[in-house]
Amino acid sequence: MEKKLKRIGVMTSGGDAPGMNAAIRAVVRTALYHKLEVFGIMRGYQGMIDNDMFQMDNRSVANIIQRGGTILKSARCKEFFEPAGRKKAYENLKKHAIDGLVIIGGDGSFRGACAFSAEFDIPCIGLAGTIDKDISGTDFTIGFDTAVNTAVEAIDKIRDTMDAHDRVFIIEVMGRDAGYIALHSGIATGAENILIPERKTDINNIIQGLQEKERRKKMVNLIVVAEGDDFGGANEVQKILEENLPHSEIRVCILGHIQRGGSPSCMDRVLASRMGYHAVECLLEGRHNVFVGIQNNKMNYIPLETAVKNKGTISDEWMKIVKILAS
Ligand code: ADP
Repeated sequence: MEKKLKRIGVMTSGGDAPGMNAAIRAVVRTALYHKLEVFGIMRGYQGMIDNDMFQMDNRSVANIIQRGGTILKSARCKEFFEPAGRKKAYENLKKHAIDGLVIIGGDGSFRGACAFSAEFDIPCIGLAGTIDKDISGTDFTIGFDTAVNTAVEAIDKIRDTMDAHDRVFIIEVMGRDAGYIALHSGIATGAENILIPERKTDINNIIQGLQEKERRKKMVNLIVVAEGDDFGGANEVQKILEENLPHSEIRVCILGHIQRGGSPSCMDRVLASRMGYHAVECLLEGRHNVFVGIQNNKMNYIPLETAVKNKGTISDEWMKIVKILAS
C-alpha cells in the first residue's frame, strides 16, 4: 500500500519551452483540487539543491497560461550529475516534506529524474516539455507546436524576399540532434530540401538540382536545415553550395532563439493542461518514474528510462512526402 501523498513539488528543467507555464498551472490546480499542497521549485534541479522553493496556491498561477517561458525559471544544473548534489536535493525536499515530484522538461531532465529516483524514495513524474520533440513514446511535446509555428511564420516572410530576388535561402532551425522542427516547418513552407540529422544528406543531389535551376535561370530554392544536421548547420551548407554554384546568390538565415519564446499556441496550451492534470493523477495513483506522453490523442504513462534510451525516429514515408511535394 502506497503511503498517502500530501505535498508535491513542481519544477521546470533544462531548455525552456512555450507552454511550460500552462503545465505548471495545470499541475498546481489539479493538486489543489485533490487537497494536496504544492511547492514550486525554482530553476529546476538547481532550486532543489539551493533549497529555493515556495508554496503555491491557485492565485500563484493566475494569468500565466498565455505566457511563454516559465515562471519557475529553468536551468541546467551540473551539481545534480553528482550523487552529493542529488543527496543535498533530497534533504531539502525532505525538509519541506515533499513526497512527490513533477518535472517538466526534456530527456536530460528525465535522465536526472531516473538517477534521483534510483537513489531516493520520492516518486518522479515527467511531463514532456521541449520544443525539439525528441522524446520517444510521445507524439508531441509541450512547446513543439508553438516553435514550429514561429518558424513557419518567419520562413514565410523570408520566402517573399527569396521569390522577389530569385535567391537560394538556407534557413537553420533549432532541434538539437532531432530534425522534427526542420521537417515540419520545411513541409509547411514548401521547402525544396530539408536536411535533418536522422538522414544522411546527398549534397551532390542538391547541387545537381540547383545547377539545373541555374541553367534554367529559375534560381528560387528554399532549404531548411536542422541545427544538428551532419553538415554542421546552415553556414557550412552555404559554403559547399557557393563553391559549386558560383553564379547564384545564396543567403543564410539562422532563426535561433525566437523559436523558443512567445505565447504558446492553442495546441500547446491544451496539451500542457491535459498533461499537467494527468501528472497529478499519476502521482495519486501511486505511479513511479513515468512520464506523461500523448499517443493517438490519448494520455499515456511511459517509463522514464525508455524516454531516455530511445530517440524518436523519422520514417521513410516522411522523406518520400518531402521529395514528391518539392518536385
Ligand atoms: P533537457 O531536459 O531540456 O533535455 P538537459 O539535457 O540540459 O535539458 O538536462 C537538464 C538537467 O537535468 C541537467 O542540467 C542536469 O541537472 C540533469 N541531468 C541530465 N542528465 C542527468 C544525469 N545523467 N544524471 C543526473 N542529472 C542529469
